[in-house]
Amino acid sequence: MWIVPEREIADLMTREAAFDAVQSVFAAMASGQAYNFPVVREAIGHEDALYGFKGGFDRSGLTLGLKAGGYWPNNLEKQGIINHQSTVYLFDPDTGKASAMVGGNLLTALRTAAASSVSISHLARDDAKVIGMIGAGHQATFQLRSALEHRAFEKVVGWNLHPEMLPNIEKVASEAGLPFEAVELPGMVEADVIISITSSFDASLMADHVGPGTHLACMGTDTKGKQEVEPALLAEATVFTDEVAQSVSIGEAQHAVGQGLIAESDISQLGAVINGTHPGRTSPEEITLFDGTGVGLQDLAVASSVVDLAIQQGKAIEVDF
Ligand code: NAD
Repeated sequence: MWIVPEREIADLMTREAAFDAVQSVFAAMASGQAYNFPVVREAIGHEDALYGFKGGFDRSGLTLGLKAGGYWPNNLEKQGIINHQSTVYLFDPDTGKASAMVGGNLLTALRTAAASSVSISHLARDDAKVIGMIGAGHQATFQLRSALEHRAFEKVVGWNLHPEMLPNIEKVASEAGLPFEAVELPGMVEADVIISITSSFDASLMADHVGPGTHLACMGTDTKGKQEVEPALLAEATVFTDEVAQSVSIGEAQHAVGQGLIAESDISQLGAVINGTHPGRTSPEEITLFDGTGVGLQDLAVASSVVDLAIQQGKAIEVDF
């Protein structure tokens, strides 16, 4: 069994490897080769923690396992460690033997950024120039850094409920040599691609804040009740997701479907576009929206990729288990 500690991940995993792993597993999900197991998420009644498991099996990549972890709100204050904690466990699908244990914290950010980037790569207009960010927290920086690699963006515009956090994304823009402008939400109409990644429970982005031809990646809504965009926007857009069942229950589409504005059958898997069984964007004016809810198979895909890299580079620890 191989162990890849959290401290090794930053030097091993690249954004490119995360993109490839997530793109492959989305394709496998859409072709029926990979499926996610039901998610377990529990308030454990200790330290106000939320703990759970996200697992699955990818028959094409032969990746079987789960991510265990969750959110401990007091970690930073009491222990000086981040509040989100997770570990990925992989198993040999031929025997059921444990094959790897991998730090999952940085991988979670990389796989989430890879998901929106895969959507941008397949659905944004080729001539997209302006990217808009809604959110400026931990995930937002990963999202922006990755997205900038998938179109020749010339400008970043950003809005955040807490404007004092905007320098986080301004820094990423300036590292890429791009101008950054803080805007009010109607200013998002200038953006060709918009990523939302907040922990909001109310819509911020309204349908009239979005211009024709925009691609949106809605990444923050991963729980029942959360919301980032006006449901009318989903009715106007062609809607894609990682997994339809999650999109309608815990994703951004929960609201539009709940209000009867769209049906579950209006939502397509991004993997179908990757596989060429869905045409994806069909005109420069079309608004496309990716509802990225986050699935366990993404975690397994990036963990499996990093184990390969760690073994190649002699950084994986082998234990007799
Ligand atoms: P963070 O705490 O670092 O940042 C939170 C962001 O949300 C900040 O920009 C903050 O200003 C904003 N925000 C907070 N309350 C808000 C409100 N009421 N209205 C609008 N904005 C508000 O968190 P993070 O680690 O960047 O995560 C952001 C979100 O992404 C979380 O909701 C998290 O659950 C979600 N997430 C999704 C996936 C996925 O796969 N889809 C993966 C990881 C995290």
